[in-house]
Amino acid sequence: MSPSAEQWAAAVAAVRSAGPDDEVLLICHVNPDGDALGSMLGFALGLRRLGLTRIRATFPGDFTVPDPYAGLPGLDLLVPEADAWPDPDLVLIFDVASESRLGGLADRLSAPRSVVLDHHASNTGFGEVRLVDPRAAATSVVAEQLLARLGVPLDAEIAECLYVALATDTGSFKFDMTTVAVHELAARLIATGIRPGEISRRIFDSRPFGAMKLTGEVLGRAILDPAAAGGRGMVWTYATLSDLERFAQPPYVLDTLIDPVRSVAEADVSVVVKEIGAREWAVSLRSKGAVDVSGVAVSQGGGGHRLAAGFTGYGEVRDVVDAVRRRLDEFLN
Ligand code: 5GP
Ligand code: MN
Repeated sequence: MSPSAEQWAAAVAAVRSAGPDDEVLLICHVNPDGDALGSMLGFALGLRRLGLTRIRATFPGDFTVPDPYAGLPGLDLLVPEADAWPDPDLVLIFDVASESRLGGLADRLSAPRSVVLDHHASNTGFGEVRLVDPRAAATSVVAEQLLARLGVPLDAEIAECLYVALATDTGSFKFDMTTVAVHELAARLIATGIRPGEISRRIFDSRPFGAMKLTGEVLGRAILDPAAAGGRGMVWTYATLSDLERFAQPPYVLDTLIDPVRSVAEADVSVVVKEIGAREWAVSLRSKGAVDVSGVAVSQGGGGHRLAAGFTGYGEVRDVVDAVRRRLDEFLN
């Protein structure tokens, strides 16, 4: 269900209620991706245009902005979790499917006013005003609609942030969610003068040599299991912290590793298991359409979309992959 007229009105009222002296905190999910950072920073710039001055944007955990997003407009508003307003007057939350993705910032939900902007069908239902639209291709679609209702015109800085978010979550305008409305929004963003070619090269087609070598090694150990997922096939691989160390790469270079893995024709389901701590793994799941992987992710305490989801797994790699395989069999039988 898309947000109702009442929810849109409540969100507009919540933002309008903030005065120039009010502290406004914007939060996106841990290990932010293009949609998380782009929708949050684009909206933050819009708030600035509305005359708000005490704006801070943040995300929980390790304060690393992946290189592809290090040139985004609005980064001057971004602060580490420790510098986030402790008692903000208004909180806005972007692309966060569950409270666990807010880490140590979840307590800010007790702010006098909170607005959640998201597009995950699995969103668990936190926050006061909820703009959760599972039909939106990206959280930035929701953010742009709220900016429009607030009367904030698009400029090139806001547009670049929202475009990066839209391009990221549609896989460069390739996924099923790439509707007429998505292209119309992209057209309006490009009309502000931003450079799609240059932006795409920066966010999709540029990486350190070491990251390429690391990817080569991790892809080289992929395993194809044709019998998994009721015969629809599953392909999986994993990367450890020591792999990252060997190639001197930060964890985010593995964020896009799922893309070559999910291209394997013999498998509907693809899985990448990435070590994040002792016996702790960030698991990415994708399906080409036969399987609802968000169901698998939710059953393991995670979330996401029907064809792209994730969760945190524990134990050895084999344990994590076996759990996915078992869940897939259960869902398909
Ligand atoms: P990715 O595999 O690119 O990290 O994530 C794919 C999708 O699954 C994204 O929509 C992301 O929000 C969601 N997702 C990934 N990991 C988790 C998780 O640990 N918990 C929840 N709730 N969602 C996740
Ligand atoms: Mn998103």
